[in-house]
Order: sequence, then C-alpha cells, then structure tokens
Amino acid sequence: MPNVYNWQIGREMSYPFEGAYPERQWAFVFNINRCIACQTCSFACKSTWTFSKGQEYMWWNNVETKPYGGYPKFWDAKILKLMDDAHRKAGRSMEWKTAGKDGDERPYGTYEGMTIFEAAAQETPQQEVALGYEPSDDEWSAPNFYEDTAAGATSSRGDTTLEPTQLPEHKTWFFYLQRLCNHCAYPACLAACPRQAIYKRPEDGIVLIDQARCRGYRKCVAACPYKKSMYRSTTRVSEKCVGCYPRIEGKDPLFPGQPLEARCMTACPGKIRIQGLVRKTADGKWAEDRFNPIYYLVKVAKVALPLYPQFGLEPNGYYIPPRWAPRPYLRQMFGPGVDDALEAYAAPERELLAVMQLFRTTQQIIFGYEVLEGPKVFEATIAGRKWEMFDDTVIGYGKDDQEVVRVKVEETMHFLPDKHPNSI
Ligand code: SF4
Ligand code: SF4
Ligand code: SF4
Repeated sequence: MPNVYNWQIGREMSYPFEGAYPERQWAFVFNINRCIACQTCSFACKSTWTFSKGQEYMWWNNVETKPYGGYPKFWDAKILKLMDDAHRKAGRSMEWKTAGKDGDERPYGTYEGMTIFEAAAQETPQQEVALGYEPSDDEWSAPNFYEDTAAGATSSRGDTTLEPTQLPEHKTWFFYLQRLCNHCAYPACLAACPRQAIYKRPEDGIVLIDQARCRGYRKCVAACPYKKSMYRSTTRVSEKCVGCYPRIEGKDPLFPGQPLEARCMTACPGKIRIQGLVRKTADGKWAEDRFNPIYYLVKVAKVALPLYPQFGLEPNGYYIPPRWAPRPYLRQMFGPGVDDALEAYAAPERELLAVMQLFRTTQQIIFGYEVLEGPKVFEATIAGRKWEMFDDTVIGYGKDDQEVVRVKVEETMHFLPDKHPNSI
C-alpha cells in the first residue's frame, strides 16, 4: 500500500491509494460545551435530504449522549474493541508519543499504534482494507438511545445526595456529541468500495457516493469507523451526507453565487457550529490562511480537535471538547491535544474570544476575519492568572472579501422605552 502523510497522527501511514488532495477542504468546528441537544440540526438535515421511503432510519446528522449513547448503537465502543483486539494480538498498544510535538507536522505528537488501515492489513490481509463491521438493523433503529444517561453517579436507590461536583471535572457527567460525515482526507468508505463508486471532489473535498455506480455491497458501511455511510433498502444502494454541496456551490437562491454553510450548520440555535473551506497545498497540508476562522481555531489556537484521530482517516470535523468530562475519556476520543485545547478554551485569549463570536452569525461561509480592538470591559482571575475581556468587534468576510457579518464580544442590549406599542 502507498504511504501518505497524516498530520493528525504526526506520521506517514499506509492507505490503499496515493494521496490526492482538493484545492479547498470542507471542514467544521463544533463547540461541544454549548450544545443543548435540541436536534434542530438533525431535523434540518432530515427534512432536506432523508425524508423519503427507505430513509426512515437514516440520520446523516445525529446528536448522541456520551458515554453511552451512539448511532448506530455502540459504534465507538465496537470499533475501539476491534482495534484493541488487533493491538493485543500484535503485542502493541494504541499509544501516543507526545514528546517532539511540532507545530504543523505533528501538533499532537505521534500516534504509535495502528490505524484501521494498518490493523486490517494485519488482521485480514488481502480481504478488507479497513478494520470495521456492519451494524445490525437493531443498532441503526434507535438514534437517541441512552439520551441524557450520565456516567459516574454514586448515589444508591432512594439516596439523592450526590457529592457536589466542580470544574474541571464532574463526578457525574455526560455530554452531547454532534456527528456527521467528516469528509475525511483519507476516507475509509472510498478505500473500501470495490466499484470505485465513492469519490472526493477536487474543488471542496466533499466525499460523495455515485448512486449509479453503487451496487449496495455495503463495504463502505462496514469500513467507515464513524458509521456515516448508510444502506437504503428501497434503492438497494448506499447513501451518505452530501455536505449540502449545492449550498457550498452558491446554488441557494437566498444568496445567489455565494457559498453557504450546510443546512445542519446554519440551523443550530445553540450557536455551536461554524463551517468553512480551508485551503490545501498539493501535498495535502493545510496552506497557511491565518485569518480563516477554521484555520485559526484548529492550527493557531489549537482549541478544536479531530474525532478519534487514531483511526487514521484525517477527519475534517473538529471539536472543542467539553470542560467537565474526565480527561482520560476525552484524550481517547480527541487525542492528546485535549489538555492544551481546554486550557485555551477556559481562559480564551483576546483573539480567540472574538473569533468564537462568529459561530452561527451568518449563513454565508466566512473565508477571513478581522478583529477591531475595543475597550476593556471585565477582568477576573482564572486558574490563578489574570484574565481580561475586551469588547472587540470581529468582522467576517465572504468569498469575494465582502463583509458578511460584524459582531461585538459583548452582546448588544436593546432597551425598550417605558411606553411602547404593546404597553398595557
Ligand atoms: S442544533 Fe446545535 S445545539 Fe441543537 S443539537 Fe444540533 S448542534 Fe446541538
Ligand atoms: S466519515 Fe465515513 S463516510 Fe464520511 S468520508 Fe469519512 S469514512 Fe467516508
Ligand atoms: S452537511 Fe448537509 S447533508 Fe450533511 S449532515 Fe449536514 S445537512 Fe445533512
């Protein structure tokens, strides 16, 4: 198998195809800390793309409660178990070496275990290209199983006096994980398809299934560790999130010609989501684009992290981890960048606080931003250090450098006059 460079695991890895990289890559950042699990995102997607016969159990976007929830049920526990078994058999472990972290090449260190491609080469040589499994109908049937079920509760029956908890970690905890296709740099769905029906678009890196070529073998369903390729029984072919590509192409009549964020992104009332397009170089790296909000959050502030980077797909969804969940659980899920990310998030730098105001402020994709400095409005001590807040203004620019949004760090207050038309 050819070798490709995966910056999220800080090393080369084997992948069935030579690397082929888009000009820009569709990517998103989700702030888990703000999600209220309202499922507006899930329904925005469903009412746009999966409302037809045969798609009843298809949720291209879903929000699940961690640690127990999952769609399909137990998807993460099952793939981690397969990986764990493969490592034990090989006398290896899924460890990271964090010494030698290096800016762009290996920002989180080096993953020394096997990816799902490397584990498959060991476990099922000449058979499967990626370690995986196909979920049963029962596992697909309950998208919100174990909703709001917490881990770590210590009270016994009838006893409601839990020990009080405090940050940084709660003794009783759960959080919401928002999931959709990551339009991976090294998609396992694409690698596993014997019909070569899955392709990655050169203009924006969106991964699509050619419905005419697909024969419904479901190799993609088994291979995607995130379980975001799904089989439709009425058409007998597989389907997946399409990244709302007509909106990315500027085909939405709302803003003709302007790239818009996807439906699940723009619908979010919790304002946890921002989606964009990052520039890539010919060798697959992220080209420096200092004032692209996604580039800044992932590469500069390092506050947003990939989901299960150790799988080896270089997913393009990034998460600001929840502050209150146990660190070992978070490190397993988002890699060793968790501690730095949470430190950056808990006491955000001036620029980070300003950029975080851009989440969900416009439907248009923000390609660049600028921060105009404002007055100091607050100061506090956080973790023993002085922290200051400034009422800066952040301006978001669209594809043609036109201003698409302008917001301040302090939310504007509107005072109604004492007497107004609805006064009684
Ligand atoms: S719409 Fe936003 S806040 Fe609501 S569940 Fe989805 S991600 Fe969370
Ligand atoms: S998340 Fe799964 S379905 Fe989406 S591109 Fe990656 S491997 Fe394919
Ligand atoms: S990007 Fe579009 S197709 Fe994909 S999950 Fe979101 S709404 Fe659905």
